[in-house]
Amino acid sequence: MGTKAYFMIKTAREAGGEGYEEALKALEAMPEVESIESVSGDYDHVARIHAPKSVVSVANKILENEWIKHLEVFKVETDEPNPFLEEVCAIPAGESIRSCAQCGMCSASCPNIDKMDYSPRKIIALIRAGRRHEALSSNTMWVCASCYLCTVRCPNDVKITEMMHALECLAVDRDLASSRTATPTMYQLFVDSIKKNGRVHELGFMIRFYLKTNPFAAIKMAPVALQLLRHGRMPLRARKIKGTDQIKAILDRAQVLGGAR
Ligand code: SF4
Ligand code: SF4
Repeated sequence: MGTKAYFMIKTAREAGGEGYEEALKALEAMPEVESIESVSGDYDHVARIHAPKSVVSVANKILENEWIKHLEVFKVETDEPNPFLEEVCAIPAGESIRSCAQCGMCSASCPNIDKMDYSPRKIIALIRAGRRHEALSSNTMWVCASCYLCTVRCPNDVKITEMMHALECLAVDRDLASSRTATPTMYQLFVDSIKKNGRVHELGFMIRFYLKTNPFAAIKMAPVALQLLRHGRMPLRARKIKGTDQIKAILDRAQVLGGAR
């Protein structure tokens, strides 16, 4: 039992120069270090370590050495069961979060990070730590604008945007969705409207949305609604399309397959 971790290590010695071999031998001699691989680039070695108690305490122990310049925790694997991680990994593209190196590129790219309880990087760390309640009750996934910047910039091909959508479903399923967001209500009413009419009836959809969330907010939108009505861009009555029953059957089946309510 215990935790395995991979540390990226940069020594304060020039590769091949004075004291380099001694630093490597000192690292190898540490009881927590299981194996060391030399790498090129910004770091000299990747060390696989065994941490019976805490990864942080092993990292601190290594950092106490004067020959260490920099250490970064690359990956942590625990043999403790983590049902939350397994749940996220079971969703399409969810498995990719195991490859996250916690580099923070996603967070640095996110245009909405200032509105999020936890950054994309931190949400992944919470999932991998099994902290379901903190992750699912946060507002992070609801604030995600699905811009895909994080996904295209991730060096390890983690599907962060898809993960955000999946976290929304899991939060609703677990009754943990943040009360600070009206988005689940909007999603539900949107789907209800399509099931009923085969397409969205904007007026009915928006009236229901404001009644369920904040009726006073509708006052601000009234001038826009009047303009749309006047120009015939928002029909008063819902118009059903042909084959509404089939659309409803497809959506019902999709909800069953996706496990959503
Ligand atoms: S950019 Fe990718 S690898 Fe880096 S922290 Fe984000 S998800 Fe992890
Ligand atoms: S897809 Fe979402 S999490 Fe990713 S950068 Fe855009 S807003 Fe941020």
